Amino acid sequence: MRSKLILGNWKMHFTVKQAVSFAGKLAAKPIPEGVTVGVIPHALALSEIATLLQKTGLKLGAQNAYFQDEGAFTGEISMPMLRGIAKYVLVGHSERRHIFHESNELIRHKVAAAVRSGIIPVLCIGETLVERQHYHTKQVLTDQLVSGIADLTSEEVAKIVVAYEPDWAISDGKSFAKHDVATPEDAQKSSDIIRSNISELYGQEVAKKVKVLYGGSANPDNAAAFLKCDGIDGLLPGGASLNMATFWPMVEIAATTVPTKINVKK
Ligand code: PEP
Repeated sequence: MRSKLILGNWKMHFTVKQAVSFAGKLAAKPIPEGVTVGVIPHALALSEIATLLQKTGLKLGAQNAYFQDEGAFTGEISMPMLRGIAKYVLVGHSERRHIFHESNELIRHKVAAAVRSGIIPVLCIGETLVERQHYHTKQVLTDQLVSGIADLTSEEVAKIVVAYEPDWAISDGKSFAKHDVATPEDAQKSSDIIRSNISELYGQEVAKKVKVLYGGSANPDNAAAFLKCDGIDGLLPGGASLNMATFWPMVEIAATTVPTKINVKK
């Protein structure tokens, strides 16, 4: 059985001091068995938090990195620079795709660069509201996924994380408790799309090993419903990861929720 993974995406929030202080509070909490918990602060806080988290169970992720290893790329950090600091890196987050116009091609290079550097890419895929309204979700997820992992071997694909993050469900960081959110059926359907594509291209064993997260206004009130889906292995909350009262209950829910097969209409 795949273990559970809860990753808090802090986005562009917190000063370095605030980020380090919050990471310290989270690191002091006992992490329940069967759950991996990580935080994803902005790049400036990574190094200090990495030092703080040594010898703790809390994992660290980066929000972004470029695919070239080094060179004249002002403002960027590279995957090799994250080595020894971050275990995970977000790639293809909808804010990177839509605000910073990252293409499927760039995202594919980033996924491959992360793997080359021994960092686990969390490949985020998801449809916009318009794409959903036109019933293009399956095609969009397939295109983003298949393109994103195209440069990896099957052994490498088995170790990545894929996050289903419908663009229309992602909150502004404050509205996560009352924002539109996907249904557990949407999440299960997306996990089925992800695994069936991987199965077709890399085999069933690989498809079974890949971790699939749900993200998009995940919070303590809806966490159990998502974690009950047997295709969903965890959550990638943004807004709800910014404070202990809304983040930690999701970790506890992940530890106690037993997944069951839910049948969805194709
Ligand atoms: C995210 O950060 O990827 C996210 C899904 O944000 P939120 O939970 O605030 O919608």
